[in-house]
Amino acid sequence: MNNDNLIEKLKSILKENQLLLKDDILTRFSHIWKTDEPLQAIAVTFPKSTKEISEIVKLCNVYNQQIIVHGGLTNLVGGTETQKNQLVISLEKMNTIEEIDSKSKTITTQAGAIIESLIDAAAEKDLLLPLNFGAKGSAQIGGAVSANAGGLRVFRYGMTRQMVLGIEVVLPDGTIISSLKKIIKDNSGYDLKQLFIGSEGTLGIVTRVVLRLQEAPKSRSSAFVAVKSYDKVVKLLKYLESELSGGLSGFELIWNRTYRAMTESTELIKPLGDNYEYYVFIESLGSQPKEDYELLEHHIEKSLEKEIIEDAVMAKTEKELQQIWQIREDVAILASKAKYDQHFDISIPISQIGEIINSIITELELINQVKTIFPFGHVADGNIHFIIGRETNSPEIIDLINSVVYSPLKKYKGSLSAEHGIGLHKKKFLLTSRSKEEIELMEKLKTMFDPKNILNPGRIVF
Ligand SMILES: Cc1cc2nc3c(=O)[nH]c(=O)nc-3n(C[C@H](O)[C@H](O)[C@H](O)COP(=O)(O)OP(=O)(O)OC[C@H]3O[C@@H](n4cnc5c(N)ncnc54)[C@H](O)[C@@H]3O)c2cc1C
Repeated sequence: MNNDNLIEKLKSILKENQLLLKDDILTRFSHIWKTDEPLQAIAVTFPKSTKEISEIVKLCNVYNQQIIVHGGLTNLVGGTETQKNQLVISLEKMNTIEEIDSKSKTITTQAGAIIESLIDAAAEKDLLLPLNFGAKGSAQIGGAVSANAGGLRVFRYGMTRQMVLGIEVVLPDGTIISSLKKIIKDNSGYDLKQLFIGSEGTLGIVTRVVLRLQEAPKSRSSAFVAVKSYDKVVKLLKYLESELSGGLSGFELIWNRTYRAMTESTELIKPLGDNYEYYVFIESLGSQPKEDYELLEHHIEKSLEKEIIEDAVMAKTEKELQQIWQIREDVAILASKAKYDQHFDISIPISQIGEIINSIITELELINQVKTIFPFGHVADGNIHFIIGRETNSPEIIDLINSVVYSPLKKYKGSLSAEHGIGLHKKKFLLTSRSKEEIELMEKLKTMFDPKNILNPGRIVF
């Protein structure tokens, strides 16, 4: 069928400023992180309501038109890459925060709202949206729901999945499923919202969500410590979990090589010497600033006495706290150390992270084209990120690096994606983490929801 007819029909649904065509699109970037590649598509649409999305999707069904959904474009797996024959639905103009219900502790919002704006809106009501990760200033809540984003506070509050109470989606045939419930418990049959959370826009377009909020903590205390061995990192985690009475909210690990890269030739401070194997960022949240700080300080001192840690610094002011956490959060620095970079976010059992990461590093060092290897991550969740820098963009080298990082996963029952998802880039390695039968079931689900395979085709399965 003729695309020109589709465009004409789109013009009858959308206003002029809600539709970009051909030449206009060349001024837009698909902005795959760190790159400014021009966007390819037959058109980019900017619907303002669920009904408009439904109408666009219904039209695309008639014209067998493939759709790629665009949120904040911060994913690291090629999820928003497009081809020139595809149509983009951008959620950019669906960014209204509709309601904060302080009593039920919920926020209801359109899917295009930026996560940081939701965090700020909740904070104004003394409530906390515990989603927290490096891209929160650009990522949208619809993107986070579709990717089931994690981040720095999963250990205490869970992934995005744990925060979603209600959802509204447009199915690949245009049907609107609206279940914007504020309730925590609902066992009235299948929990359908879970199908859309983490399915990377392959089963439906998330248009609105209800998120669960928490009471805002009144205190945030942080320490940065140096540790000699991985075994002691695990010992420290166990010690702090048992002594901080549930207050531990962050426990982030970086390896020596990553710490040096972050603090050498950058403007970031260097709170501790760079002669230790591991560094841990610790965060505790609570209700009594002075007492909570002293409690953390006391147990950091005890950890020094017990020789679990080698050295430590407490963040005494908000400025110091920000400066310390910047070393963990400003990962763009790591990606800038080489011409090309490859990102990983694998899950492995906490007890085995030390030995597995060491053996991966040893193997990667044997590849000449690998310039930098930077591991860091949410160790308390068993989730380690790697940013690997290379001087070449050769597909063979990319695959070789992939196979080195993914090779231990089957044996240790890990996952190739703890948080970032599969997108286009990781699809061919899905078997490292899922059985043939699981993948077949995913394919059946996709076919049932989207028999024409028009919504986010190629992501996760086919
Ligand atoms: C510096 C940096 C740090 C990061 N840190 C973390 C981290 O700690 N933890 C983590 O989990 N992730 C992290 N990410 C990855 C990324 O930010 C998350 O996956 C984020 O949730 C993506 O949101 P987005 O709005 O940018 O989605 P996009 O990148 O636009 O889209 C992601 C996927 O979801 C689909 N999609 C987007 N919106 C919708 C919608 N409304 N309905 C249906 N499908 C949709 C897209 O088609 C795509 O497949 C990081 C990224 C960067 C650049």
